[in-house]
Amino acid sequence: MDDEAGVTRDRHYGYGEWIGKNYTVIDTGGYVTGSEDTFESAIREQVKEAIDEATVILFMVDSHTGLTGMDKDFANILREVKKPVFIVANKADNTEYSFQSAEFYELGMGEVYPVSSANGSGTGDLLDEVVKEFQTEDEGNPDEGVPRIAVVGRPNAGKSSFVNLLLGKERNIVTDIAGTTRDSINSRYKAFGKDFILTDTAGIRRKSRVKENIEFYSVMRAIQSIQDCDVCILMVDATRGFEAQDMSILSLANKYKKGVVIMMNKWDLVEKDHKTAVKIQKGLKEKLGPLGYIPVLFTSVLTKQRVLKTVEEAIQVFENRSKRIPTSELNEFMLKVIESYPPPATKGKHIKIKYVTQLPTKVPSIAFFCNLPQYIKEPYQRFLENRFREEYGFEGVPINMFFRQK
Ligand code: GDP
Repeated sequence: MDDEAGVTRDRHYGYGEWIGKNYTVIDTGGYVTGSEDTFESAIREQVKEAIDEATVILFMVDSHTGLTGMDKDFANILREVKKPVFIVANKADNTEYSFQSAEFYELGMGEVYPVSSANGSGTGDLLDEVVKEFQTEDEGNPDEGVPRIAVVGRPNAGKSSFVNLLLGKERNIVTDIAGTTRDSINSRYKAFGKDFILTDTAGIRRKSRVKENIEFYSVMRAIQSIQDCDVCILMVDATRGFEAQDMSILSLANKYKKGVVIMMNKWDLVEKDHKTAVKIQKGLKEKLGPLGYIPVLFTSVLTKQRVLKTVEEAIQVFENRSKRIPTSELNEFMLKVIESYPPPATKGKHIKIKYVTQLPTKVPSIAFFCNLPQYIKEPYQRFLENRFREEYGFEGVPINMFFRQK
């Protein structure tokens, strides 16, 4: 589990994958019952909010200390929650402790999963069961095939203004009703004769006594909407420029292999001459490095400059993502490229790429069949990717490149 950006004082989140299912883990500081101490009630608040957010709850108990009164209290709270609860008896580092953890059956909440965080035992069995609770994509879903677009970015970049402008109405939802934060607001929208779904995460503001929550939720929500979407529009406040946080969001989108469009917003506020856009574009390309294929638009939500163009671009990126290049065409082009600039020999061995094909995957994936795939180095891969992109477009879309033994 990696704890990338977004660690709060009281909760951590991380994300992981198990047998092809991606998930986010929220780790809370623990539940304290029956105290009026404000710090403890803040922790309680955090736990409650984490429960609201979660699909599945892992109730961690300690197999060394055994069943405590606090476990029983907390079990009573969890019984009220209409979500699957797994009792996880931690520190079951050996068989003796595993047996001992059977006493948690007394809670009457079903199966007990002895695990050891220290040596990992039991975690596989637990995860197998946990991922069964994750919903699989609904067959016959009317939204199937409709591009899902998420608007992400730092607070104040202009996300709500953008979404409101598109939807043509004020939508600034302030809510403190438990449960509402779980659902992002998805609006089906029509423009240029195209249907798309806007995953609106910006309009949600949650009131809370705990101060970090706004930042926490905005990060959490960004992760969720990136996972849910096909294409994300990363909104950057052009007066502040492209910052480290923006890069983290891009890395996340890249990790999940999503399409991206960058919107440099508040362009109306930037003092500029005819070279400014080009200059910024160039600087950005350098920062983006291998993600330089992402289109950048200079927009103003205030004056509506290039707002619809951005949507058009996002839809184009969605279409690029499902583009298929016929094998014969791909071979004809790529094999010529390779012939004119073959992979450099490694350890005196010549590398021959004989055949290229696009795999029938959701994310564009190109397989190169060759004699010594292990000798194809990063710079050469980059070269092939660049030539491929120059020829076939695929703007804004990450591409997987595989080298396989022929
Ligand atoms: P969010 O936190 O990303 O949802 O940002 P908001 O949509 O709430 O916008 C933050 C502030 O920036 C608001 O005061 C908006 O009116 C303002 N804003 C948004 N887009 C633009 C723009 O293109 N130009 C200017 N000048 N202000 C903008």
